[in-house]
Amino acid sequence: MEKFTENVQKFGFGLMRLPRLADGTIDVDQTAEMADRFLAAGMNYFDTAYVYEGSEEAIRKALVERVPRDKFYLTSKLNVTTNDAKDAASARQEFYTSLERTGAKYLDFYLLHAMNKENYSKFTEWDIFSFVKELKEKGLIRHYGFSFHDDPETLDRILTEHPDLEFVQLQINYIDWESPSVQSRACHEVAVKHDKPIVIMEPIKGGMLASPPQQVVDLMKQADPDASPASWALRFAASLKNVMVVLSGMSSLEQMEENLKTMKDFQPLSEAEQQVIVKARETINAIPQIPCTGCRYCVKDCPKHISIPRVFEAMNKILVYNNREQAERTFGFAVEDGGKPSECIHCGSCERNCPQHIQIRSWLEKAAAEFEK
Ligand code: SF4
Ligand code: SF4
Repeated sequence: MEKFTENVQKFGFGLMRLPRLADGTIDVDQTAEMADRFLAAGMNYFDTAYVYEGSEEAIRKALVERVPRDKFYLTSKLNVTTNDAKDAASARQEFYTSLERTGAKYLDFYLLHAMNKENYSKFTEWDIFSFVKELKEKGLIRHYGFSFHDDPETLDRILTEHPDLEFVQLQINYIDWESPSVQSRACHEVAVKHDKPIVIMEPIKGGMLASPPQQVVDLMKQADPDASPASWALRFAASLKNVMVVLSGMSSLEQMEENLKTMKDFQPLSEAEQQVIVKARETINAIPQIPCTGCRYCVKDCPKHISIPRVFEAMNKILVYNNREQAERTFGFAVEDGGKPSECIHCGSCERNCPQHIQIRSWLEKAAAEFEK
């Protein structure tokens, strides 16, 4: 792996879900306390983005204005899907806005945000690849890479066509490791093949693996009575090859303390512990759930533009994890994207296109009853 990863500590502070005050604004005092605790534990990687509402300004006050600049690494991201990014010039402007909001003078790591097939075309058309290269030459960023949400073939293509991209951020956790929709394992293999340092996002799957189904909790307690389910998830991610940082989006000091306990003196999973993870994955996969792979073949001809895979993701968060808060959040994104399940007119087009032969109409009725009551 590249030398630049050497001083980066393996546990990163994701700044997407910062604590908020009653009026909805970010609690800067608590964020500062969390940042101090994080630094005191020897950690140094902070991850924000242009699209994390209020986060860049909050980290300026909580960290940049209080701590010498060489004591931390700060990361932000350029997103081509925002309303602000209308063309190449306005997309590029996001970088300067991030720089101003954070007050950081330069960014240690800069990412092309949410790369997938579709966004890759836009990043290419607007030549954002040359832009980040120029920023590095000017010393305004130290290293550039991208965060990725697509299949391993697309990842391989991007890394082959742009070998100068220095690192990659992937969604990896023990449950998505073999999942046909996220394909964490296959994406990890591609990144390792290209010898890229890896930043891991969603190691606890948005918090879901902090409270997995009871059978999994029992399994983990039996193996180690003192280890929390979240610690197993973090250690699984951090044990993988080429990992530079494992991010966790923390919202409270308690979460920070809990995660630091695991990551401060990080120990990779032993062979026996890896077997516990395999068993946990098998146990979760054996729970009846909608076998949707997220391929989206069903969506293209839906006259009501229902975001079917997102709705099913929300349903599975209820069926598998019984996590209503997370499920409703995902359902909210689904109806932002398209129609409500109750708007389905039962035309059947989606079912004709679904390679998994899922009874989509029937599951949408169940989803409407679950989330629209
Ligand atoms: S059956 Fe419903 S969900 Fe399926 S394509 Fe028709 S309207 Fe869309
Ligand atoms: S076609 Fe089937 S498997 Fe693919 S996203 Fe739609 S419901 Fe899921």
